[in-house]
Amino acid sequence: QVADPVLDVRGLSARYGHVEALKSADISAGKGELVAVLGPNGAGKSTLLRAIMGLIPNEGEVRFLGNSLPRRDPVGAATKGVVLVPEGRGIFGPMTVLENLELGAYKIGGDRQEMERRLTHVFELFPRVKERLKQVAGSMSGGEQQMVAVGRAMMADPKVLLLDEPSLGLAPRVTGEILETLGTLSASGLPVVLVEQKAPLALKLACRAYLLSLGRIVATINPREVKSHDELAQYYFA
Ligand code: ATP
Repeated sequence: QVADPVLDVRGLSARYGHVEALKSADISAGKGELVAVLGPNGAGKSTLLRAIMGLIPNEGEVRFLGNSLPRRDPVGAATKGVVLVPEGRGIFGPMTVLENLELGAYKIGGDRQEMERRLTHVFELFPRVKERLKQVAGSMSGGEQQMVAVGRAMMADPKVLLLDEPSLGLAPRVTGEILETLGTLSASGLPVVLVEQKAPLALKLACRAYLLSLGRIVATINPREVKSHDELAQYYFA
């Protein structure tokens, strides 16, 4: 764990009516770190990301680059550089791949040079996206759409990247490709928070993994110390 994390979540809680979906979660991600949030269905993983973004009512504190984020200001959070790739990708199907990517950089206005610079970076990360710029995004495969979703997030020039199960519904090979790219991004300095149900894949990349169960972080795992899947399973069913 780094001393001065970019994202530092302290005692974050959220509820839907009477359901306490997230109970006083602490997580952090520093420069160059990819941290995983693992846990079974309904554990509260998506809720954690939504609460960090301020998309749902929450209590506790989200510190970003040393300052508290306002509790309910998702646009402000994104503008500051906290960028979420949501579950289900949130791609605009009828628009082209290029239009989807350009939307991610809405902040820069008409600065074509900056737009080109960011597009070039996305093409380096996902060469396949470059070949499909004019294609309607909704007609791409699930894996390609996920690449566009991550690419669009990168167009916003994030300071921390949050991803909600990017592997959902994807074939293993393309999942591997996408997760590998996330590893590259974190290695280049960008803190990444990866929510994943496929624990073995996430543990290959993560420097730290938080295990959520029934809304609570029940363990912080050092992936190098996990010797077997059975060992991980014991947390899941604890
Ligand atoms: P999954 O992997 O299935 O997406 P998750 O770990 O992301 O699961 P959440 O989606 O965060 O889990 O849900 C946590 C809990 O909150 C669950 O009990 C869920 O039923 C409940 N919940 C989530 N969204 C809502 C909502 N909009 N209204 C009421 N309850 C909700």
